[in-house]
Amino acid sequence: MITVTETAAMTAWSTARPGRIGFVPTMGFLHSGHVSLMQRLRPEVDRLVVSIFVNPLQFGPNEDLDRYPRDPEGDAAKCRAAGVDALFVPTDFYPSDFSTGVSVARLTEGLCGAKRPGHFDGVTTVVARLFGVTRCHVACFGEKDYQQLAVVRRMVRDLALPVEIVGAPLIRDHDGLALSSRNKYLTADDRPRALSLHHALFAMRDAREAGQTDVPALLALGRSVLQADREDYLQIVDADSLEPLQTVDRPARALVAAFVGQTRLIDNVAL
Ligand code: AMP
Repeated sequence: MITVTETAAMTAWSTARPGRIGFVPTMGFLHSGHVSLMQRLRPEVDRLVVSIFVNPLQFGPNEDLDRYPRDPEGDAAKCRAAGVDALFVPTDFYPSDFSTGVSVARLTEGLCGAKRPGHFDGVTTVVARLFGVTRCHVACFGEKDYQQLAVVRRMVRDLALPVEIVGAPLIRDHDGLALSSRNKYLTADDRPRALSLHHALFAMRDAREAGQTDVPALLALGRSVLQADREDYLQIVDADSLEPLQTVDRPARALVAAFVGQTRLIDNVAL
């Protein structure tokens, strides 16, 4: 595995080699959720590229950009073990006169888009540039960030970008907590309230499987289980359009975002 820190060198590496390039973009502090994306792509590509870049464009002014957890050596070891060929850790990613933004409308209006203004513009802009820099043919994104996956798919379709998007299942810790780099912020005291996110979602899923289709009733059940310090949203939406539903009469997704202490957590489940 080579580590590439210059953006031009990343493109030179990709273009010098024939074959199909798979790509997993990350912000580092890697865990088994990230590794599962690498394992998903590894068998079907000739070369596997992982990026680690904490993208300032996707953080709001009062978010955790400055304290986002980092573990460069641990990350490199995990990538090497997962069979990554090139680890891209850019130090010069945006030109000083970078002037372009990519913005997906509608799909970004609700859920995290409503709570984190500008966040998805930052995501689509960095992902579009990463696709250009890495010259990847296929890229893998986790369902952990369900709205992000939908937004990236829409960007690729709308701009006809030559990249196949693969979605991968959400990976959970042994106790059910959705794996996230931000779990590092949680104290032992925080853990039970953090676990209540997936307990709320699974209670809703179980009730749906038992025949409940009324969304207000399902949300009331979820809220009775959720013990976070502050709810950002708890919603049931159409699995494709992300439009809020009143009745679960089609493939749907329940999603939650909530604060435990200062830490904002997200989780979701198929209904
Ligand atoms: P991040 O480093 O948080 O930007 O995440 C990089 C990629 O890993 C995104 O596609 C995430 O959806 C994915 N990811 C993060 N956590 C998980 C998880 N628990 N299960 C599956 N994918 C994940």
